[in-house]
Amino acid sequence: MVIAVDGPAGAGKSTVCRRLAQALGVAYLDTGAMYRAVAWALAQCAMDQASDQRMRQELPLLPLEFLIEAGRLRIDWEGSPLGDELRNPSISRMASLVSQRRPVRDFLTQKQRALSRGHDVVAEGRDMTTVVFPDAELKVFLTASDRVRAERRWKEYKEKGLSADLEDILRQIQERDAADSQRVLAPLKPGKDAIILDTSELSIDQVVEQLVRWAME
Ligand code: C5P
Repeated sequence: MVIAVDGPAGAGKSTVCRRLAQALGVAYLDTGAMYRAVAWALAQCAMDQASDQRMRQELPLLPLEFLIEAGRLRIDWEGSPLGDELRNPSISRMASLVSQRRPVRDFLTQKQRALSRGHDVVAEGRDMTTVVFPDAELKVFLTASDRVRAERRWKEYKEKGLSADLEDILRQIQERDAADSQRVLAPLKPGKDAIILDTSELSIDQVVEQLVRWAME
């Protein structure tokens, strides 16, 4: 079984998908982490600017492994798990750049499909419903108004004790939405027949409950 979930930044995808996978007892596949890992790995090998041909040849040879362990994606580099090094702003920027390279998208699409052959998964990302799993049992596009998404991000910053300006965050979200939906490879949009769920007025619990109901139907 594959449940495919896409949506813009700040729609609550990660939290919802992690909890949905737990509720259903299936694995949670965070495909953004896979793009971050490839960005990190290419940077380690000074290959982030390599030609398409070289990337296509070298990507399968890197000591990078994607596994599902205890219901979660584990990403190993030379046999040791990658973790926090993937969660920083410079990796976010690099991931966004390498996600626009055809060999990277092809490589990860194939890895994501391979992982789903061994496990039932909730797969979360930007092209799950359109490219990777267009025939998934359940396809959902999670969204929320840009202002609600900006407010959620702003609250997260405040909870971490960081200062942030709501209007700045809103502008960044609007710019990122425009870039994500206009990009050439895998532009962000709902897949054919995907259910569009606007979470602006819903709590995380309500969204998870709704998705569990659809998954059980
Ligand atoms: O979701 P996250 O911020 O971790 O994603 C990192 C980068 O990978 C983003 O730039 C996102 O657009 C890209 N990505 C992608 N396709 C996916 C998942 C993430 O292009 N399926």
